[in-house]
Amino acid sequence: MAKTAKEKETKAAAASKETVHPAYGPIHVKCACGTTFATRSTHKGDIHVEICSACHPFFTGKQKLVDTAGRVERFRRKFAKSDAAQATK
Ligand SMILES: [Zn+2]
Repeated sequence: MAKTAKEKETKAAAASKETVHPAYGPIHVKCACGTTFATRSTHKGDIHVEICSACHPFFTGKQKLVDTAGRVERFRRKFAKSDAAQATK
């Protein structure tokens, strides 16, 4: 089967787009709360986020301390240690 002129044209257009645009492919976004969703991006590899629409207080409607990545807990542990050190002096 012979290729039509239109087929050749679309192939040429696709080739030129590949050279001009960065690779735009499917990726996964992973949140610290455990939620994962697929999207498309020019970003290479998966994206890790600390908060997403599944756990952000605005979407959950719950007032909560946003500490999914354990930052506040780490801070508290650090200062609990220094308090204990001072108490033994
Ligand atoms: Zn989340």
